[in-house]
Amino acid sequence: MSRSYWLERAWLGGPSVTSGVLVTVDAGRFTRVETVARAPDYTHRLAGLTIPGLANCHSHAFHRALRGRTQAGGGSFWTWREQMYGVAGALDPETYYDLALATYREMLASGITCVGEFHYLHHQPDGTPYNDPNEMGLALVSAARDAGIRITLLDTCYLASGIGQAPEGVQVRYSDGDVERWQQRAAALASAQSGPDVVVGAAIHSVRAVPREQVKGVVTWAEERRAPLHVHLSEQPAENESCLAAYGLSPTAVLDAEGALGARTSAVHATHLSEPDIELLGQSSTRVTFCPTTERDLGDGIGPSRSLHRAGARLTLGTDSHAVIDMFEEMRAVEMDERLASRRRGHWSAEELLVAATRSGHESLGFADAGRIETGGRADLVTLDTSSVRTAGTGADLAAVVFAATASDVTSVVAGGRQVATGEDRAEVGRELDRVLQRVKERS
Ligand SMILES: [Zn+2]
Repeated sequence: MSRSYWLERAWLGGPSVTSGVLVTVDAGRFTRVETVARAPDYTHRLAGLTIPGLANCHSHAFHRALRGRTQAGGGSFWTWREQMYGVAGALDPETYYDLALATYREMLASGITCVGEFHYLHHQPDGTPYNDPNEMGLALVSAARDAGIRITLLDTCYLASGIGQAPEGVQVRYSDGDVERWQQRAAALASAQSGPDVVVGAAIHSVRAVPREQVKGVVTWAEERRAPLHVHLSEQPAENESCLAAYGLSPTAVLDAEGALGARTSAVHATHLSEPDIELLGQSSTRVTFCPTTERDLGDGIGPSRSLHRAGARLTLGTDSHAVIDMFEEMRAVEMDERLASRRRGHWSAEELLVAATRSGHESLGFADAGRIETGGRADLVTLDTSSVRTAGTGADLAAVVFAATASDVTSVVAGGRQVATGEDRAEVGRELDRVLQRVKERS
């Protein structure tokens, strides 16, 4: 049965917004998008400014348990990783599901209708597979379904602690032993999952965690299925140094040599790159996934977002460690970080950043038919309050979305034609997170 929404103001693409847009939805897709000055009586009215659903291209759902518990400390990425491993060691399929469900509900309430979950917590704490070796991945898919968020489960190959080093400690939960066994397990997951709202993709954890000679096995697996392929790339200078020492090449050059770059690939972070690295990523049309709120929290550094864009690498965004779940903050942080690095303003337009958070993000996750309000597309609508204490008087245009709004300004979220969250849900989502995180804390 078709239904319709009347949008007071909407971004339909381009540099400006349109007033009075009536969208008709059938079977989860827009069947009509037209300009109608006044809301017809029969329709559901969405006041404020409506944009397409946001795509969160890089998530580790369980990192949500670290928020507020790790930020105050000192140290580096590597000391933070020890704290993260403490939580990773304590989770079982049930707590993983609960934590992911609450985290995905927080995402939905923040306007995120599609998540790319970079999943490597595969096995039991001693490394033994569960009865179903995909029990942990299936817990994430169930959590996404139950929350009402679309998911691309990026099943991650993780085989080594560092180049030439066997997995140690909690890392035994991540490893399948070799890439052939990873392929088999991931294939079983892919064939167990179908439906319009789930994509199973592949991930190479990093050149640290997948030996060079096994990278190709992940690439081939993704190629055969035309599935998205994601990879952590050059988040830390130490990764570059050890890669150069072992292979005589940068991590980007290793991925290029093994055929891992290309239009279906997304390189996550892409922080510490040389000019030749930037050229390789751009020429191969690889996407880059920046996660600025995590990168600043971990002291990673500022990646060359604009140089990558100029070279041809399309930008996408993710909330990664969930220090913050707010795609509006990620969008503006890309521009603000460039300003800090260059001491100049005006690198990214609001339109470009919105495209990164919507259309490009969905393409990176294998949902090329989402992230735009147009006939035939998936009917996702995120509506913002344009008269909140943050957005009042800002002009209710694209600049207001990118430079003033926050996730707390989201008043309604429609995914696949159905309203799945409203601003009123936030308090209940907070209480649910509180309950779940208390249980996880007691165990870790
Ligand atoms: Zn990550």
